[in-house]
Amino acid sequence: MNQKQKNNFLIIGGGICGLIAANVLKNNGIKSTILDKGRGIGGRLATRRIRHSEETIGVFDYGMQFFAVEDATVQKWLAQWLAEGVVTEYSHQDIDPETSYYRGVESNRSLGQYLAKDLDINLQTRAINIKSSDSGWTVATENGQSFQGDRLILTAPIPQFLTLLENSGIALPSLIKSRLEQVVYHPRITILALLEELSLIPASGWLKLDDSCLASIACNHKKGISPQGFAVTIHSTPEFSHDHWQTDDGIIAEKLFNLASTWLGSKVINYQVHRWRYSHPKTVYGESFLALDNPGSLILAGDAFSLTPAPNLHLTLEKAILSGIKAAEYYGGV
Ligand SMILES: Cc1cc2nc3c(=O)[nH]c(=O)nc-3n(C[C@H](O)[C@H](O)[C@H](O)COP(=O)(O)OP(=O)(O)OC[C@H]3O[C@@H](n4cnc5c(N)ncnc54)[C@H](O)[C@@H]3O)c2cc1C
Repeated sequence: MNQKQKNNFLIIGGGICGLIAANVLKNNGIKSTILDKGRGIGGRLATRRIRHSEETIGVFDYGMQFFAVEDATVQKWLAQWLAEGVVTEYSHQDIDPETSYYRGVESNRSLGQYLAKDLDINLQTRAINIKSSDSGWTVATENGQSFQGDRLILTAPIPQFLTLLENSGIALPSLIKSRLEQVVYHPRITILALLEELSLIPASGWLKLDDSCLASIACNHKKGISPQGFAVTIHSTPEFSHDHWQTDDGIIAEKLFNLASTWLGSKVINYQVHRWRYSHPKTVYGESFLALDNPGSLILAGDAFSLTPAPNLHLTLEKAILSGIKAAEYYGGV
């Protein structure tokens, strides 16, 4: 059980939004505790290993691939990550030679790990009930723990926190609830494929595909994060993902491997299929965060909280970062 402190924040969600919020609070001398249901920190900044044998281990960035930054405040954060060697420039003729893109040096999850340093993080801790009282918020978790804080920031994708609020018996004002319910996310089926030999993906390690089923294909070995395995990440399109959500993994894999065969150029020796129900927002809430004072001090934030939808996928992470900054500043007195 957590010790209650003055101005203590609880943050549900250890994706980039929650991590940035916790860092802004920390920089202002305010303590926070992050709860995340995942096994690793970072949310959709996701990296996974597939160990095929002693010698062959694939490392896959299978969520966010790379990002651009337009906002001046986020550029300051980026400058620090570059200076500390956590992210690196990852520019691409294939997408847009005019824009600078960035990715994690060791992996994309390593940016999450870097931001998590010196924070109070509880992984594999799924919030199942939140309750407000005169003494603040109490969050009950699936593993039987209870956390207390004066203020609560929720950064899970909107449908997930609407379910959490409903299960907790918390009714939102009807206008706000209906605006939140209208926010829609794209689904994404992703395959992590370990190849016998090096893929035929261009040397940069990433390729946008002009296909109704395949969105992009990435070679993590060529990117430099998977030295012991020819690890390829295949992102299907939202349309394919929607149509095949219930389809058997084996059938999905066969279809996507056939379609990607020109770029794979090798036998697949191991694979996993991952379903992202909430990959990235199709529509947004229209504000950088949502603060509610009744019941209790509650803030909703995340990548779907922005004034306008990201103009392209690679500017989505920035929306989550900005939302985290603004959410923390609202109560953090910055
Ligand atoms: C396949 C894919 C490709 C992408 N590609 C790009 C790209 O190239 N460029 C780009 O800029 N963006 C990309 N994005 C989008 C980007 O990754 C997201 O916008 C960003 O990471 C969202 O961060 P977030 O903190 O808002 O949410 P998340 O990262 O989803 O964090 C929310 C966290 O809440 C946790 N959580 C949820 N419910 C609970 C609960 N009840 N209790 C405890 N914890 C809970 C989750 O485990 C999760 O860690 C991509 C996303 C995906 C999935």
